[in-house]
Amino acid sequence: MDVRMHVSMVFNLDKCIGCHTCSISCKNIWTDREGTEYMWWNNVETRPGTGYPIKWEDQEKFRGGWEKVNGKLRLKLYKWAGPLERIGALLALFYNPFLPTIDAYYHPWTYAYKHLFDAPYDENNPIQPTAQPISLITGEPVEIKGGPNWDDDLGGSPLYAYNDPNLSKLSEQEREMLFEIERVVFFYLPRICNHCMNAPCVSACPSGAMYKRAEDGIVLVNQNHCRGWRMCVAGCPYKKVYYNWHTGKAEKCILCYPRLESGQAPACFHSCVGRIRYFGVLLYDFEKVEEAAKADLNEIVQKQLDLILDPFDPKVINQAKKNGLTDEIIEYAQKSPVYKFVKKWKLALPLHPEYRTLPMLFYVPPLLPIKANKTGDTYGIDKDLFTTIEKYRLPIEYFANMFTAGNKELMKEVFKKMIALRIYRRAITVGDVDKGVLNEAGFNEEDANEYFYLTSIAKFEDRFVIPTFIREIKVEQLMEPLAYKAKMGFNIRQEAKRGG
Ligand code: SF4
Ligand code: SF4
Repeated sequence: MDVRMHVSMVFNLDKCIGCHTCSISCKNIWTDREGTEYMWWNNVETRPGTGYPIKWEDQEKFRGGWEKVNGKLRLKLYKWAGPLERIGALLALFYNPFLPTIDAYYHPWTYAYKHLFDAPYDENNPIQPTAQPISLITGEPVEIKGGPNWDDDLGGSPLYAYNDPNLSKLSEQEREMLFEIERVVFFYLPRICNHCMNAPCVSACPSGAMYKRAEDGIVLVNQNHCRGWRMCVAGCPYKKVYYNWHTGKAEKCILCYPRLESGQAPACFHSCVGRIRYFGVLLYDFEKVEEAAKADLNEIVQKQLDLILDPFDPKVINQAKKNGLTDEIIEYAQKSPVYKFVKKWKLALPLHPEYRTLPMLFYVPPLLPIKANKTGDTYGIDKDLFTTIEKYRLPIEYFANMFTAGNKELMKEVFKKMIALRIYRRAITVGDVDKGVLNEAGFNEEDANEYFYLTSIAKFEDRFVIPTFIREIKVEQLMEPLAYKAKMGFNIRQEAKRGG
């Protein structure tokens, strides 16, 4: 057992209100520069829908992530090269048809506002001047055809939703039924880089510029080493690495590591209005990573969960200490809300585990709305109150395609628990439903109450459990004696030479 620590996150989709505050806070801090206009390190998609960039989940088109060939993992990007993978990697540097174009994202634009003031009055044609859209890339007038969030709330039409790749395995009839106007339903999917444990963006980088920090697993791009080959953009199946056309380098979500290093949550977490986000650390067994990434698809989620270790287990603690993890990290791993959602309660799932990237961002799926009905002129809540999983307006298969690599039984287990929790809370409030439903779903009252606390009224420090594990703080602590000596007139350079 090789115990290591990884940062990890949970987004509770049941609570996301699609306000986009997260996207804006990220944009204001990190991508408000030339060359980054089209980048949204954090974006929020309406589902069913095509997302940003358009249809990013269509890996026949974009070839992101891993595939298993003869028992080995291979970047899907090199599929066309067959056994000549290395030659394929070399050629892809010069010709890569699988990269998304700017149109797949959107053409960033502003408006020619100045024209509103400067346009001369024309007596023969006295019309109101307009502010024409201008490309932020070329500076030329541009025709707006789409935007990063064009189909927000389905953009007023279910037409967008038809093209969601997760619906591809549904029959035509099932899809038709889904978009009958009285049945239309949608939810929000906020996305950032998953800081994957088996990150294809890192493996695809020919310059060694993409790397995963050993101490916490955050995936970063070294701007000095990046040569702009864009293999990371193609390799990432979530399309969460972007190319800066101004600097010629790749950029991506850095999980606000400067904030983390001072004990603060990333900006998108901090600003989340729906309080859907949780941050914590997990202890995992490094020796099992490869096995999990290569697992059969119907058990890949379970294999990823098997990687995550019990931070209360004395054997794990012992091994963690031998590997240099501090008491503080172990304590924070024990308090981690992510551990509870993902491993203890098994309520949060990775997005598209079939990409074999072992994403470290997990999602609690959105629960079904309470059924309403109409009796005479009165609208009310259906007497059954909670509909069944089978009658849910979005088929279970849709969620299974997103979160469990098609494993419908696993998806049902999660929904069953969530429904049981809802029935249990109702029982506490109005007392008309059997509390025993919890046991049936494999939950106890203590866990149910903790889940309720975390998803309803939890404070900052319960949602974001961030240890001071960070290298820089440790370095500062080490530097303290030297700073003291400098203040007292010691020559630090000479001290250092003497090994002092
Ligand atoms: S989600 Fe992030 S870590 Fe995972 S492959 Fe994409 S860029 Fe890399
Ligand atoms: S800020 Fe929170 S609630 Fe609002 S869209 Fe982002 S994730 Fe959803």
